[in-house]
Amino acid sequence: MDSVSQRPDLRPNRVAVLSVHTSPLAQPGTGDAGGMNVYVLQTALQLAQRGTEVEIFTRATASNLPPVQEAGPGVLVRNVVAGPFEGLDKHDLPTQLCPFTAEVLRQEARHLPGYYDLVHSHYWLSGQVGWLARDRWRVPLVHTAHTLAAVKNAALAEGDCPEPLTREIGEKQVIAEADRLVANTAEEARQLVELYGAAPERIDVVPPGADLTRYRPGDKAAARAALGLSADEQVVAFVGRIQPLKAPDVLVRAAAEVLRADPTHKLRVLIVGGPSGTGLERPDALIELAAALGIADRVTFLPPQPPDRLVLVYRAADLVAVPSYNESFGLVAIEAQASGTPVLAADVGGLGTAVRHGETGLLVPGHRTPDWAGALGYLLDDADRLRRMSGRAVEHAANFSWEHTADGLLASYSAALSDFREERAGLGAGRLTAGGTARGALRDDVR
Ligand code: UDP
Repeated sequence: MDSVSQRPDLRPNRVAVLSVHTSPLAQPGTGDAGGMNVYVLQTALQLAQRGTEVEIFTRATASNLPPVQEAGPGVLVRNVVAGPFEGLDKHDLPTQLCPFTAEVLRQEARHLPGYYDLVHSHYWLSGQVGWLARDRWRVPLVHTAHTLAAVKNAALAEGDCPEPLTREIGEKQVIAEADRLVANTAEEARQLVELYGAAPERIDVVPPGADLTRYRPGDKAAARAALGLSADEQVVAFVGRIQPLKAPDVLVRAAAEVLRADPTHKLRVLIVGGPSGTGLERPDALIELAAALGIADRVTFLPPQPPDRLVLVYRAADLVAVPSYNESFGLVAIEAQASGTPVLAADVGGLGTAVRHGETGLLVPGHRTPDWAGALGYLLDDADRLRRMSGRAVEHAANFSWEHTADGLLASYSAALSDFREERAGLGAGRLTAGGTARGALRDDVR
């Protein structure tokens, strides 16, 4: 992959960030809101702190939303009206990309030329919008896929629906059009090259992060008391959207197996989050499963929690389980470790980067109940090992901060701006200044 460090430091003054299908201000952990929302908001706040203003465009999903909201200093969220406010399924969103794009273009047209120096799109739907904005504004397009249909379809949970071919086609188009691609991990970069034909020299690997000021170790007893959990149980938490892809059922089945082998085991499963994706078709499926397995009294459900409560969940847990079938990174795994809690994760996608097998938790190949029950028992039955892992988990998570992610994004933006300048050199470019772009320079350069 490209080394962006040897390029001149070109910094955009203002970036248009596109997040069509979900708002960075939505509560993550249910519906379409998850790690991408956290990523978009946290990186925007960090970029703004470094002097790059960010305007995030997202589709309005309620009639009472103001057209623009301030998410923090230097970060605006523009709620674009495109299609019905409620009830529009993610798979129907392509029908609303035209009105969404029109409003993005009109927003820029209300300002002097060159208002945005760069477009950064998140997820393929936004990439389709970004591609047009890039052409219209003559600025570079940086794209982050977050998840890829080809990868998701290769590891479907039982009974889950494959992503439609139209998504894969749309992803390929965006990947071919983007000036630079940001991948969460080296594995995702490889998938972009091998499955989508991306040019390796246009990919920057930039790991996501966690809010390390919020997610840090704390008083377990106080956290349990605040959540109404018993002090003398062993708590294993699942945090995230409840859908087959995230596989909370794997944890429930494994817990049932542990309790079947030892009914005196003081195990409690804590499930935090709300239904999402195909999980919406049967929102009570997990409750029914726990009842069918005879462990309903050992499973506690909590609705999606805001970050100041979520840190209590991580601190209260002895272990956090991430049994997903596919995970491009897995922010929950980093947040849990930053809070001092080891992670038991499926050995898929970015979780292999997020968790250090045998040191900060365990990576389990596959999703078989005996393997997961064995791993649960192995970790819970040795308090000293769990304590050692907890310490290492905090050290490991310290490598993943949003500050670090923002630095990586700025390096990628700089490379995109630099390539853009070189490609247009024959058209009279040369007004970009090291350390920042003169506002309007990129637009004027190509006139
Ligand atoms: N999250 C939250 N409250 C909840 C559950 C999850 O704020 O009740 C957040 C969590 O902190 C994490 C994100 O949702 O930052 C989930 O990200 P992850 O990468 O683990 O999964 P994704 O949703 O992207 O598949």
